[in-house]
Amino acid sequence: MKNLILEMEEYAKEHNVPIIEKESIAFLMKFIKQHDIKNVLEIGSAIGYSGILMASSSRQVKVTTIERDETNYMEALKNVKKCGFEGKVTVVFQDALELNLAEGTEYDLIFIDAAKGQYKKFFEKYKYFLAPGGAIITDNLKFHGYVGKSDKIESKNLRQLVGKIEGYIDFLKTNEEFDTEFLDIGDGLSVSVRKNDEK
Ligand code: SAH
Ligand code: MG
Repeated sequence: MKNLILEMEEYAKEHNVPIIEKESIAFLMKFIKQHDIKNVLEIGSAIGYSGILMASSSRQVKVTTIERDETNYMEALKNVKKCGFEGKVTVVFQDALELNLAEGTEYDLIFIDAAKGQYKKFFEKYKYFLAPGGAIITDNLKFHGYVGKSDKIESKNLRQLVGKIEGYIDFLKTNEEFDTEFLDIGDGLSVSVRKNDEK
């Protein structure tokens, strides 16, 4: 397992796959343990790195993870098999915006880590599958330090992307249904919980 994790880190570096930062995955693993999370939905598997680590954080937790890129999907499948997690991690090869989950499916934790420009769409689509008391965690809200400085970015594509992340942060801050905590961990994480779920 430890070797596989190192192998995945190497692969990610070599192939420029943006896997989660150490500090952020440590936070997620602790969160899963502390809140006794049983079902996780991850949007954006890449090579399975965060999915496998989340699945390893407690005995009962299971992870369903969605990936639309075929190369990454194949790599994720291979890695799940290598660590014998076929029963704990299910990798779904599909665009998360096109997937139809069975009605009544519920997750205690939804981890959003796919296309940064689509965060709001993922949130709006998947909040209906959040179990009562569950949390939606989003990664990369600092986007390498660009967030909050989009007006100074020269590249149009990057400026638009960062603008969308800023828009998502505003959407969370002004959301009437969810309360969100923003954490200065790794590349920036948010934890959103339904207001009327709080004790
Ligand atoms: N969670 C991973 C990293 C994910 S990188 C980790 O930390 O280990 C983001 C991934 O999301 C990429 O592999 C990309 O192909 C995928 N992705 C982007 N948009 C998507 C979408 N709409 N549906 C499914 N996967 C998507
Ligand atoms: Mg990420």
